[in-house]
Formats: sequence, C-alpha cells, structure tokens
Amino acid sequence: MKHWNYNEEFEEKYKYMGDDLGAVYTPEKTAFRVWAPTADTVTLKLYEDGERRKPLDHVQMKKSERGTWVAELSGDRNGLYYNYEVTVDSVTREAVDPYARAVGVNGECGMVIDLAATDPEGFAGEERPQMILLTDAVIYESHVRDLTVDEGAGNPYPGKFLGVGVTGTKNRDGASTGLDYMKELGVTHLQLLPVYDYATVNEADTENAMYNWGYDPKNYNVPEGSYSTDPFHGEVRVREFKQMVQAIHKEGLLVIMDVVYNHTYDAEDFCFQKIVPDYFFRKTEDGRFSDGSACGNETASDHVMVRKYIIDSVCYWAKEYHIDGFRFDLMGVLDKETMRELRKAVDQINPDIALYGEGWTGGPCAIDAGERCMKADTWQLDGIGAFNDDIRDSIKGSVFYAAEPGFVNGGSGFEEAIRFSVTGAVGHPAVHFDNEAGVWAEKPEQSINYVSCHDNYTLWDKLKESCPDASVEVRKAMNNLAAAIVYTAQGVPFMQAGEELLRSKPTDTTADGIAENSYNLPDETNRIRWNTRSEHADVFAYYQGLIAFRKAHAGLRMRTAEEIAERIIFKDTDWKNVVAYEITGSKEQKERLFVVYNANEQAVRVELPGDGTWELYIDKNHAGNVPLGSVSENVQVEGISAAVFVQKI
Ligand code: CA
Repeated sequence: MKHWNYNEEFEEKYKYMGDDLGAVYTPEKTAFRVWAPTADTVTLKLYEDGERRKPLDHVQMKKSERGTWVAELSGDRNGLYYNYEVTVDSVTREAVDPYARAVGVNGECGMVIDLAATDPEGFAGEERPQMILLTDAVIYESHVRDLTVDEGAGNPYPGKFLGVGVTGTKNRDGASTGLDYMKELGVTHLQLLPVYDYATVNEADTENAMYNWGYDPKNYNVPEGSYSTDPFHGEVRVREFKQMVQAIHKEGLLVIMDVVYNHTYDAEDFCFQKIVPDYFFRKTEDGRFSDGSACGNETASDHVMVRKYIIDSVCYWAKEYHIDGFRFDLMGVLDKETMRELRKAVDQINPDIALYGEGWTGGPCAIDAGERCMKADTWQLDGIGAFNDDIRDSIKGSVFYAAEPGFVNGGSGFEEAIRFSVTGAVGHPAVHFDNEAGVWAEKPEQSINYVSCHDNYTLWDKLKESCPDASVEVRKAMNNLAAAIVYTAQGVPFMQAGEELLRSKPTDTTADGIAENSYNLPDETNRIRWNTRSEHADVFAYYQGLIAFRKAHAGLRMRTAEEIAERIIFKDTDWKNVVAYEITGSKEQKERLFVVYNANEQAVRVELPGDGTWELYIDKNHAGNVPLGSVSENVQVEGISAAVFVQKI
C-alpha cells in the first residue's frame, strides 16, 4: 500500500468541518457522507439485518468536497443497515460508518436511525437536575453489571441499562439498592464505566453474559449492545440508554460517561483505519503503531479530522443522550489543543458539563511531551480536571506495590503529602510537598480526589494486602480515616461504588484470593454484594454522614486557590502522623472548622485553635450533622481516626 503523508498540506486540503458526516435521517430521505480522502472508490452497501445475512442493494458514492463521498436514498429508511466498502490503492475493505449512531449486534454494521423516535416520553424537554460545580459534587463510579447483577440487588433488569434506572429495588433485608441507595448515600453523580459499544463481549450470546469493563472501543457513537434487552435491533439500545439517563435525572442525580478516545480495541479492524489507512493512529518512526495506551495503539488526536471526530462524539453524547460529564481514560495520550477545543465546543452546549481525566499515559507516546494532557499540566487546561494520584497514594500507599502502606495504614512521613492533598492540588504557602508534578491544579475543581476506583485493589483489599496482621476493626478504622480525608479535602470527592460497604473482589484465580485487575473477571468477582448492607451498616452510615457534613459546610468546598491559601491554617502538633488544620470563617460562612487526622495507633491530644467551645461532628465511628459533644482548649483524638469540629462565629 502506498504510504500517505498526512502532513499539514494534506490536512489543509482535506479538512472537512461540516456537521453532516454519517447518515443524516429525515422521513423523506437519508443522506450519507463519509470522509475518505485517500479512497479510489466508496460504495454504500445496504443490508436488511445487522448481521449482514440479507444484503440488499449497493450504491456507488460520489466524490464531494474535501475528500468526502456522498450518496442519498429517498424515502423513509429508518432501520436500514449499511456499511461503506472503501478501496484505497487497490485494497478493498468494508467498514462501519465511524459516525454510525446505531449498529446491529456486535457492532458489525451501521444502521440508519430516526433518533427522535427513540426518545422516551418527556426526554426531549426533560428537566435535568441542577448542574453543580464539581467541588460540590460527590462522584460514584460503577459498572452497569456491578450495580445490578447481584441477587441482593433485587433488580428486574440485571446487567442492563434499564436496571441502572430502576427505583424501589431492595436487598434481602428490605434495604434499598441501586439508584435509591445512591440517593440515600448522598452521591450527586453516577460515573459509568464504558457504555459506548465495545468489542470483547459477545452481544449475540444473550444466554451466557460475559464480563468486561469495556476499555476496548469499537463504535464510539453507539451504546453497548450487551446492556440492552435486545442487541439485534439497533434502536433498542439507543432508547434504553436514554431511559436510563432520564430515570437517573428524575431521581436528582447527574450522569458521567467514561470515554476512551485514547485507543481502540483493534487498530487494523477499527472502522476509521479501514476507511483512511493509518490516519487515526500515531505511528512510530519505524512505521509501527505507537502504543502510548499499552493497549496496542494510540489515537492521533492531533490530526485535524481525528480531533473533530472526538469533539463531535463528545458533543453528540452530551446533546443526544443528555450526558452531564465525561471522564477521559488516559487523557495524557490526547493532546492539549484537542481538549481545549473540546472544552470550547462543550461550553456551547452547557458550560457546566464536567470534563476530567487520567493525566497520564500507558507508555511512551509519539507526540511531544509538552503537547500531552498530563496531570502536571492541569493548571494549563482551564475547565478540565485530573485524577489526584497524590492523595490516592499518600492516603493508602502505592497502587503498584500492594504491601506498601500510606498515611492511614501504618506508613510514616506522609504528613506533607496529606497537607498538599487537602488543598486540592492548588498548593498552599505552608505546604512543601516534593512531588514530580509540583502544584498542578489552578482551581480545586480540577482535582478529582479518590482513594479507590475500578483500577487496582479496592480500598478494603489494599488494606488487607498492606496490613495482613491487622484486625478487621483496625482496618475499618483505616478505611474510615481514608474516607474522612477524601470527604474533607478541597477538590472533588470521587469513590468506587461499594467502597462504603468494604467492597472486595474475591477470586479463585490468584494466590491471595483477591483480584487486583478484574477487567475481564466474572460477576462473581466484580458485583457489589448488596446483602452485605446490614453487615456494614456502620461503615455505610459513616460515609453517609461524611457526605452530609461536606454538603452542609461550604468551607470544605472552596472554589479558588486564593481562598484555600487564605482560609486553611495548618497547625503544628507534637505528633508525627498527625495532620491538623483550621478552616477560618468568611463573610458568608459564619463558622470555623477544625480538622484532625490521626494515623497513629494511639490517641493524641491536640490543642484547639483560639478560645471558645467547639462542637464535634466527626469522630472515629460517627459522622454527620448531629453534634457529638462540646470541647474547648484541647481534645483527645482517638487512634487511627479523624475528628472534625465546628465553631460558630
Ligand atoms: Ca459491543
């Protein structure tokens, strides 16, 4: 095959900025446009079914402006399946439309769709919950199956989009599960692991459901079929996804989508690759696919039409499916210009839509380091946040070394890292934390604070791995101290679903009986065990109380670096492994807060700032908006615990 040089000249000549790529449906006609500047011919192949068993006609497409090819079919073509057959340098391949809005089973064939007809009643003008600044959010991360498949979930649609939107579900003991449960806990956003069409689950085998996280994108603009009740009819997954979003919104929660634009499942088999060979992916100097994702390839987001593709895709999900935020997998693989342009485009839809991602890559990328969206550069990316691995690793120890402890589980020397973490990565004149990225956020809303997510051990499993000899009670104390730090820190609290039920990922395939990476392990490992709710009622109540307390005190949710620098006063104590700070009052907030984290096994006595009486609201076993007692002058803080006090002024 001829080697195409995708240089600036090529980009300038073929850049197509129209909004009509894909199959544009109206009841009178459907217009197709595909960008294929290197093609010799393009044919529109039509099918009656999504499995391509019943071919219909095919239509030669005509060359149009800027490397695009067009065809038009008259009449109402809703439900018609189609692909493009593209010949480049005498090699002919059949590809799904990269802009397909619906596909057949397993995403092998695009489908013309009347999107308006898939709207559930009231969806078009739905009243969405109020969008809030991320510092006021509590983000809860889950996989569709994890949330719904357990017997204890009591869910009528296990493993389905519809199951995520169901209310009234209860476990064995009559306690709420799923959406009702999230409301009860107090979370504001549900972040779903990939829900676009991914490759490795066989949608056609509806009897034997497979499990995968879904970080293996196949069709970016279509919901995953295995989460629908009928993956064979393209419109069903579209409608059911919308029903899910509508149901979540109706309960007052917002929806964040995990998007994986940094790589695709199989580079050679990806539709864009078949249509415009080697344009979608970055290559190494010796002509191989560069692998900055550690998944076999890396997206050339810096190519003009790839950038447009990513931006169009995100905007499409935001508009068509009413998605409230996006979490970018390996955002470090994407280039800054793309993310900045994306922020601008999303602002046109709704400036409150949240954008944040992983500020790292999976390996070396074929793009200059300065162009990548790395965590250290977050301050240069206005309106885009990054996961805070400083807080994650300083609280509980490295995710790469299971036995290595952090602040709460027996480590030492983490005081400065914890101080840095509670500033929301915007820094503070009194904090001198020696990390690679330095002070990396400009605003606290850019710091996604977490101690557990789908990756790596769950918090509970990490505590077991790092403290094998500690009792369950001690590990519970560590767990609660970890949570108290996340929920009192400035920035954006984020948690893996089930952290508040001491979620574990048991498996019989590892020596220690728990899974570190459960991306393709069965439900048995991954599901949230809803019947453990009563067993862990105390931990649940603690999280619920932390969340309620955070929501009641704006001092924990400051919005600027200046305010954080001014209002947080770190206190020296006589103790190692203790961090204590005051949050002063303000014009609007007529109260002072005092926060102590004691990671020592023994209790410590700490002086309270200034005069007067303080009310205790959070201690080792309680959290919430009910005062637990009054103290003045100094106070004893129990071993491995947080204590938070309020004084009205
Ligand atoms: Ca799929």
